Amino acid sequence: MRVVVLGAGLIGVASAYYLWRDGHDVEVIEQHAEAASVTSYANACLVSASRALPWPTPSAHKTIWRALTDPSAPLRIKKFFDPALWRWGREFLSYANPRDYERLTQAKLAFANFCQRELEDTLLQTGVDCGYQQDGLLYVCRSAATMAAAQARAALVGTHGYAVRVLSRHEVLALEPSLASSTMVGGTFAVTDAQGDSRAFTRELAAWLGTQTERPVRFSYGETVSAKLQQRGRTFQLSTGSRELNADAFIVALGPQTPDFARMLGTRIPIYPVKGFSITVPVKDAARAPQRGGICEDSLIAYCPLQSPSGPVMRITTGAVFSGQDNGFSDADFVAHREHFETLFPGALDWSSSRVEQWACQRPMTPSSLPIIQRDSRFDNVYWNCGQGHIGWTMSCGSGRVIADLVAGRPPSFNLENMQQL
Ligand SMILES: Cc1cc2nc3c(=O)[nH]c(=O)nc-3n(C[C@H](O)[C@H](O)[C@H](O)COP(=O)(O)OP(=O)(O)OC[C@H]3O[C@@H](n4cnc5c(N)ncnc54)[C@H](O)[C@@H]3O)c2cc1C
Repeated sequence: MRVVVLGAGLIGVASAYYLWRDGHDVEVIEQHAEAASVTSYANACLVSASRALPWPTPSAHKTIWRALTDPSAPLRIKKFFDPALWRWGREFLSYANPRDYERLTQAKLAFANFCQRELEDTLLQTGVDCGYQQDGLLYVCRSAATMAAAQARAALVGTHGYAVRVLSRHEVLALEPSLASSTMVGGTFAVTDAQGDSRAFTRELAAWLGTQTERPVRFSYGETVSAKLQQRGRTFQLSTGSRELNADAFIVALGPQTPDFARMLGTRIPIYPVKGFSITVPVKDAARAPQRGGICEDSLIAYCPLQSPSGPVMRITTGAVFSGQDNGFSDADFVAHREHFETLFPGALDWSSSRVEQWACQRPMTPSSLPIIQRDSRFDNVYWNCGQGHIGWTMSCGSGRVIADLVAGRPPSFNLENMQQL
């Protein structure tokens, strides 16, 4: 079959790999000049399957109230009078009850585990080197309240098969001595969580696919895809600025921009973009820097040590801002990153370097916070693979595998009944 994948982010490129593996003739179309140029460009790089928890918790109402009233809250709502947000929010709140939370938790944790195994298999099969390291992630607590919440979370994910150890301050220091001068009180250690550079993964996998001797995948960069309904909406035509696209199957993996594209086909995709801020800072003193990635449970900054061509760097991300289609940022958006990271690891980073890179991008969030992986109900040759939200690096390969199953007409390798449905 000829399959065209729309979007060369983590999800599009991972989909292309599994489709290629099935023997299809695959083309990927991307509006930017390179793969991983939008959301997949500078995320926190944590393969944090143990954190694959749904956002609509039974206490989500409190989080929303804080988002509206506390300007220092990590989650903020800036575009309150947005009909798309209200519609998304109504569905989100419909899941914020104990029964749905349990159902979504079970589905999301199981899917994340499946996806991590697929990611590891893809790395093994292709030899792509993204600095993948599976030696656990550390979740650091600076207060008794977050320690209690972390303990409860460890117990919850433990019932779903995840090994998460609750650690005293002393035990955390044994794992991460560079926290010695912080006021950290303890933490949890997710034994099977991992880390890796998701941009390097996406770009290297794209390069690997494009250079296969058998059916190399064609990557067409700098082309923006649009859709037009025809015959009173019974058929459609996709095109870029320069050509019409024809294929037996189209995989739509446009991340946070998927709803805009879907509107052209007359389809509503329940994704709302949730902006996060990411900064990459050169490491100045390796002895003071963390050795593995983690999250500060009090501030919700995520950090991950990475290798760049010019030496070791630290990726730090935080923030969840509901502000519509907006990737803008200013220096003020990165004050919290520096303040909280320095509280944990003082003096580790060179904040004044000209190599500091700031970035903002949007998580493609669905109301249930599970992805949409399904065939379109009107157009047989359209498949949606989007909405991986805050955990799309972790879920990339599993999502790719399952979409390839659907295209092949096989029963999906993972049960999709609890995924976000259209
Ligand atoms: C701050 C932050 C931190 C995160 N940290 C983590 C983490 O630690 N671990 C984790 O698992 N996940 C993390 N995530 C989530 C993860 O980054 C995303 O889920 C993932 O990148 C989404 O990938 P995608 O391919 O769906 O979207 P994208 O990477 O945005 O790819 C979509 C592509 O489609 C292209 N496109 C859009 N419209 C068109 C069009 N009309 N024509 C052609 N091309 C088009 C875009 O240019 C883009 O390249 C984080 C996200 C954020 C924002």
